[in-house]
Amino acid sequence: MKKIIAVDGPAGAGKSTVSKLCAARLGYTYIDTGAMYRAVALKVIQSGKNLDENLIKDIEITLDESGKVFLDGIDVTKEIRTPEVSRGASNVAKFGFVRKKLTELQREMAKRGKVIMDGRDIGTQVLPNADLKIFLTASVDERAKRRFEELKAKNFPANLDQIKNEIILRDKQDSEREIAPLAQADDAILLDSTNLTVEQVVNKILELAQ
Ligand code: C5P
Repeated sequence: MKKIIAVDGPAGAGKSTVSKLCAARLGYTYIDTGAMYRAVALKVIQSGKNLDENLIKDIEITLDESGKVFLDGIDVTKEIRTPEVSRGASNVAKFGFVRKKLTELQREMAKRGKVIMDGRDIGTQVLPNADLKIFLTASVDERAKRRFEELKAKNFPANLDQIKNEIILRDKQDSEREIAPLAQADDAILLDSTNLTVEQVVNKILELAQ
């Protein structure tokens, strides 16, 4: 059984949904690295200050087993899912000192083994020796539709065209940044989920994990 699984891919590809389910079936820990970049973005927004090393020096980001995210001890699970924080996360993710700090935390979390970690640079930078690497993608229309439905289900105001444009912009920014851009690792398996159900993607990953 593969002990360390890395799942990367563009926004809205279903990484967190399928990773969470795979982790539950395997009895593994799920680590949502996007939530960590979102927490940094929320900290910047809430502080009203410019992002610098000092602001995040002592930042405490905790992901608990139930999927809750804590920033400096406060539950921010809901607050980090707004479109403003999505944009903010992609902006803070460009900075080397932010990536260094979060990459260190992520590697520490993965040390326990039996983890499935999702993000943009897990297979390429954070865990280059992962036992299994998946690059999960889907068409931009499908990804926008999924994000739209997800936001509606959480009662956030949502507009499909706007979501699509934001996804395109965020993917462009994430793929073109200089440090640790969104990219498929050479040894990652490409999984296009456009025409697959969540269950089909989960089963495929579990099969590969055997
Ligand atoms: O996955 P999620 O949409 O929550 O990620 C939010 C943002 O965090 C991404 O658009 C990306 O800019 C950044 N991110 C990153 N590296 C990761 C995970 C997320 O740069 N490993």
